[in-house]
Amino acid sequence: MKIFTKTKNLIEYISTIKDKKIGFVPTMGALHNGHISLIKRSTDENDITIVSIFVNPTQFLEGEDFKKYPKKIEADKKICSYAGIDILFLPTAKDIYSDDEPHLLAPSIKGYIIEGYRRPGHFNGVLQVVLKLLNITKANNAYFGKKDAQQLYLVKKMVESLYIRTNIVECDIVREENGLALSSRNIYLTDIEKQKALCISKSLKKASALVINGERNVDSLKNIILHELKEVRIEYIEIVNRNFEKIEKIEINNSIILIAVYVGATRLIDNIWI
Ligand code: AMP
Repeated sequence: MKIFTKTKNLIEYISTIKDKKIGFVPTMGALHNGHISLIKRSTDENDITIVSIFVNPTQFLEGEDFKKYPKKIEADKKICSYAGIDILFLPTAKDIYSDDEPHLLAPSIKGYIIEGYRRPGHFNGVLQVVLKLLNITKANNAYFGKKDAQQLYLVKKMVESLYIRTNIVECDIVREENGLALSSRNIYLTDIEKQKALCISKSLKKASALVINGERNVDSLKNIILHELKEVRIEYIEIVNRNFEKIEKIEINNSIILIAVYVGATRLIDNIWI
């Protein structure tokens, strides 16, 4: 596994790679089995896999956890090496960003609803860095988790709108056995909070079971989820179609139920695609 910290060196190295399919997995590190599932998919489907670890400052809002975001670089290197990746990219913010540079803006509607409404400007930072990383890596395939459903939607939209020649691969959410969606931020949770957080995935499971039994009404489903989320502070429960448009009735194979809550001081998101 080669490790690059300088963008320039990575670009030079990638320019020497010929006739090989490149897979790319962008992450912010503190790797867990969710990340590993994306990496595994990339190594299965490509000749070369690049993983980036970069806690991107521009996607954090004032007062968010940028400064205390979990860092486990030595463990992450081992995970990447065992997973058989070819290139680990560990850039610094100084290397990635320059002063007074052009900015890509998230779509003015879908970048500012749901997650983007609570974190205005977050998706500008996400798209800015993903665009840079896709240009640097020249990936044929880039792997993103459904866990960050709106991010995935907006990255796909960006790639389509800007004619970027990377195929965006959607990867399923990996959960603990008890249902809790894996997240680097789960590290912040105490044992009691972890217990409390289980109601998130339980509520999504319950809603999806009701849909299987014929329930289609979005308001009824939201109410049921609301009742299940007793142990946490709800930020939003939203049900949209896969185009991130509001719906009144569930459309099978075209709907997503999205939840954001606080468990203690930790903000968690989860969703289910139905
Ligand atoms: P992050 O390091 O949190 O920015 O995540 C990097 C990538 O891993 C993103 O595409 C996430 O959607 C994805 N990811 C994070 N958690 C999970 C999970 N539990 N299951 C699947 N993918 C995940």
